Amino acid sequence: MGQIDILIAGSGIAGLATAIALRQLESPDFKVNIQLYEKATELTEIGASIALSPNGLRTLERLGVHNALDDNVGFRGPSAVPMIYRHWKTNEVVSDDRFVNVPEHKHQTARFHRGHLHQALLEHVPRKDIHLNKGVRHADADANGVTLYFEDGSSAKGDILVGADGLRSKVRVAFNPEHSLHWTGRTLFRSTFDASLVENIPDLPPDSTHWWGPRHTFFASKLGKNQYTTVGQYDPTEFPQSQDPATVKWDQDGDVSIFRDLYKDWNPVVKALTEVTPYVRLFPNFAGQPLDSWVFHSRVTLVGDAAHTHGGAYAAGGSLALDDAWALYLSFRQVLAGIKPGIQLSVRNIHDALTLYEKTRLPHTERLMKGVLAGIGAPSPQTDDELRQKIKSRPSGIWLTEHDVEAAFATVLLEQGLVGNASLESESIPKQSRL
Ligand SMILES: Cc1cc2nc3c(=O)[nH]c(=O)nc-3n(C[C@H](O)[C@H](O)[C@H](O)COP(=O)(O)OP(=O)(O)OC[C@H]3O[C@@H](n4cnc5c(N)ncnc54)[C@H](O)[C@@H]3O)c2cc1C
Repeated sequence: MGQIDILIAGSGIAGLATAIALRQLESPDFKVNIQLYEKATELTEIGASIALSPNGLRTLERLGVHNALDDNVGFRGPSAVPMIYRHWKTNEVVSDDRFVNVPEHKHQTARFHRGHLHQALLEHVPRKDIHLNKGVRHADADANGVTLYFEDGSSAKGDILVGADGLRSKVRVAFNPEHSLHWTGRTLFRSTFDASLVENIPDLPPDSTHWWGPRHTFFASKLGKNQYTTVGQYDPTEFPQSQDPATVKWDQDGDVSIFRDLYKDWNPVVKALTEVTPYVRLFPNFAGQPLDSWVFHSRVTLVGDAAHTHGGAYAAGGSLALDDAWALYLSFRQVLAGIKPGIQLSVRNIHDALTLYEKTRLPHTERLMKGVLAGIGAPSPQTDDELRQKIKSRPSGIWLTEHDVEAAFATVLLEQGLVGNASLESESIPKQSRL
């Protein structure tokens, strides 16, 4: 019987989704042993919201995580539009996003408390396979396998290493020591709280809403399980009393009085939302250049924020992480279909699978990252007309939110000559992998 030992660093959304996806490779001829190593001492998520777009929700369904698709867990607004954009001062609707091809309600953009989404994924991963308090210090790989070295002095060995250890990934650093992150000039105030606190706000929009002002934005939405979120995006260097962004830690306590002060001249709905927001936490936004490759020593790859350091732009990271996991599964499934049942995967086989994965995901996420990096430091609108124009002419995100990872994978197969005819059906697996 063939067997593969897979190490996953990190058990956030990307790590859990990767474990769920790769477990589906198991068959009577092929055993898949997956171990996750997480630096946290308990399995909790930070108290913030996360949006999943149609691409991510479709992938959740493929992963079998049906427990996250329910309207009770994720909030979908009554107007069936993913986002409404309003004017900061007048509160009038200036624009909205529309779905292009999302016929099924369960695939329409949903907003979660991160803890609820994380919990839904956790239900599909055996608890015994998640090792807590295992902060990765370093990683390496050679012809014989991969090794993770932990902060407590212990180590773990396997055949494949997947770095799912987030934006500040130690696995990425181990194989790309030159890569660095930069503050984007934006910091987020975030809060989640019980939706009963907003019940008495007059004219509160029932849909997820983004208010745009000349320099700052404000987002508010109901979440699943009767939670509510408020998010303020600002440049702290404009506030003498706020902390230096370079020294602000991720998920640090913020000053709710600065948050309220930031929006004191905005329309009454936004002002009221800041008044009922009980606390805020700070999330400085960092981003880095795209990597040239996602395959290291033929045995190591990255998923989620570790792979694409886009710094939270377009609220796309959760869905991208799910699609990464699915693309990695499709790639290994493809290669496994080309080898004799029951034999071990060779380094060459692993390399081929990781290369298919990279070709499916790297160009897509690179497009996002180039857009993010180009937008840093863009001038603010000087007049109200310019602001309205900026809202109306914002770039469409449909290529991201309705991206079909299976179609992208099928296109890669075609480009690599791995599909006999022109069918783009990802179900069609060739008899022989020819990478
Ligand atoms: C506050 C906030 C709001 C966001 N909002 C949205 C949104 O609305 N929509 C959206 O799509 N995306 C959003 N994102 C981004 C999105 O959450 C991520 O892109 C997505 O969850 C993928 O994350 P990940 O699993 O790759 O990384 P993470 O969620 O950062 O998980 C990484 C995991 O690795 C662990 N880890 C880190 N370092 C080590 C180490 N050295 N050793 C072992 N384990 C380690 C961490 O503890 C964590 O469990 C948000 C992110 C944050 C933090």
